[in-house]
Amino acid sequence: MKEEKDSKSKLLAFEGVGFIFKVCWRYNRWYIFLLLFEQIVSIAATFIPMILSKNILNAVFEEKSFERGAYFLALLVGAILVTGFLQTVLQAKELVAKTIVFKFFRLDLSERIMSVRYERTETADFLNLKSKADEFISTGGAGFGVMLERAFGITGTVISMVLYAVILSEISTLLIVLTAVLTAVSILISYKLNHKTIEINIEKASQERRASYFTLLTQHFKYGKEIRSNDCSDWVSSRYEGQLNILQRFYERLASYSIKYGLLTLLVSLVQRVVTYLYLISRAFSVGMEVGNFMLYLSSVEGFAAGLGGLVGGIAQIYQYNEYYKAFKEYYYISDEDAIPEDEAIPMPDVSGEMTIAFNDVSFHYPNAEYYAISHVNCEIKKGDIVSIVGENGAGKSTFIKLLLRLYEPTEGKITINGVDVSRISRSEYAKHFASVFQDYQLMAFSLRDNITLGEGGDQPDEERVDEALRFVNITDKVDSLEKGKDTMIYRDFDPNGYTPSGGEAQRLAMARAVFRKSDVLILDEPTASLDPNIEYELNQQIRKNFYGKKTVINVSHRLQSVRSSNRIFVFRGGQLVESGDHESLFARPTLYRRMFERQASAFMDIKPEEDQTGSK
Ligand code: ADP
Repeated sequence: MKEEKDSKSKLLAFEGVGFIFKVCWRYNRWYIFLLLFEQIVSIAATFIPMILSKNILNAVFEEKSFERGAYFLALLVGAILVTGFLQTVLQAKELVAKTIVFKFFRLDLSERIMSVRYERTETADFLNLKSKADEFISTGGAGFGVMLERAFGITGTVISMVLYAVILSEISTLLIVLTAVLTAVSILISYKLNHKTIEINIEKASQERRASYFTLLTQHFKYGKEIRSNDCSDWVSSRYEGQLNILQRFYERLASYSIKYGLLTLLVSLVQRVVTYLYLISRAFSVGMEVGNFMLYLSSVEGFAAGLGGLVGGIAQIYQYNEYYKAFKEYYYISDEDAIPEDEAIPMPDVSGEMTIAFNDVSFHYPNAEYYAISHVNCEIKKGDIVSIVGENGAGKSTFIKLLLRLYEPTEGKITINGVDVSRISRSEYAKHFASVFQDYQLMAFSLRDNITLGEGGDQPDEERVDEALRFVNITDKVDSLEKGKDTMIYRDFDPNGYTPSGGEAQRLAMARAVFRKSDVLILDEPTASLDPNIEYELNQQIRKNFYGKKTVINVSHRLQSVRSSNRIFVFRGGQLVESGDHESLFARPTLYRRMFERQASAFMDIKPEEDQTGSK
């Protein structure tokens, strides 16, 4: 769905409500009926007691009849009981009905966001969009669907106001006209003032995201080590304070507008009340009025004025969240924009026999970057190749991998598999053929087994394959030593006895996960930095023994010793693929690879760290 132009979207003030309505209708229409019923009951709960009170007063003061007074009182008690009971039950049922909608909605949203092109998710624009979308979803913290409840509330208020007008019309249509005019004035004032408030709130959303980042930075254990070991808590706190001060200024601006808005609305409703009270009193003196009717008219005027206030506030709120809806809409439909239309997506070519991955003059620069991270790369990788990619930091190795995995699309040139342009293949089908472990791999706070299978096999995963993967990375002894073995929870987020793997163990588990996956291509983007050289050596031997000639392995590494076991080596420099070949052929000539190799070897032997230019990330 395309974003509407600003001017046009103003007309669609209730578009956000419409969206929530559709979501509720789709996932649980029962919720809509409950909301509707609650409004009817709430109108009855207001008007029935009002009418019955009028009758009680008239029975006691005008007719002087105890029986009729008692009769109406009994009716009043009954009405309050029934409507009160219904309201209590309905509200509880609504809550449950709403959580069902929210459950499905959350799942839908997560699925959508997980399929957004990775490239987009890294940008500040996307994160700002997300924080505005969150405001819409949670109605500014009030809860999901509150906008819809407000809309139903407004409808109920409008019906109530019509009923008040009907009651008042018994004595004067002038009174209604007067009230209607004052209503219009009030709505106008509120709209003007509220527009400013909305703008401030939208500006505030991105600053709130910054403040939330500090909450994470100061409170999440992930950053705890860095902050404590560098003793920089004062510095972080002062930056946090600066951010909170910025936020504070937004609240001050909002408060000043809310004072103006509150005072003006108060003034309008006061004028309205004074006029109607004076009118009623003068009528009571001039033509006479039953006491019950007098009270009924007074409460109708009160009810009308209160309804007016509620109406204006409710509409203003819906307007406000509608502004967030624009951001939400973009956020929600972003994955649709990126999806290859089903009729255009082509199936993955058959790779059961041959599989040739080719980079054809591929160049790429990151969004907003001034230079190319990869430029004019040409290469071919055949099935069963064990490829190592080497080069200094920033040479473009990871970018090459990200392009192959389609986390980013090439700016120029194309990547093909068996001659088919990969950008035309459906993403999910394509992804099935790859398994990868990154330098910043993540284990999840689930069981150890779940971390390996990632849901493959459901409740009955192939245990034999899980064990095989664990053996592959030589971690079986460790897993067996854990009390609950593969059922052990990773980390202590949800289990106080959870297992926190060491850096090397975690890397091996991440590797086991990739080995477990039935893929044609295994990508290792420097996941071995925490492994001791012996284990890394063993692992490389395992890879060579098990996969050479069968599965394609692409391995980014800084340890050139471990690169020797691959049959092809790509050397990157400044975004270009400058050398390729096997170890022997590259070493036989005065290549960059040879220089890097010799420098690393001598650094190991002479321990001269100042000469180590290749470094490690
Ligand atoms: P390597 O893996 O060889 O260390 P990368 O492929 O990570 O190198 O980076 C290549 C270049 O692209 C570097 O100059 C790096 O700063 C830049 N780069 C990497 N990731 C991003 C990103 N997400 N956004 C912008 N620039 C990036």
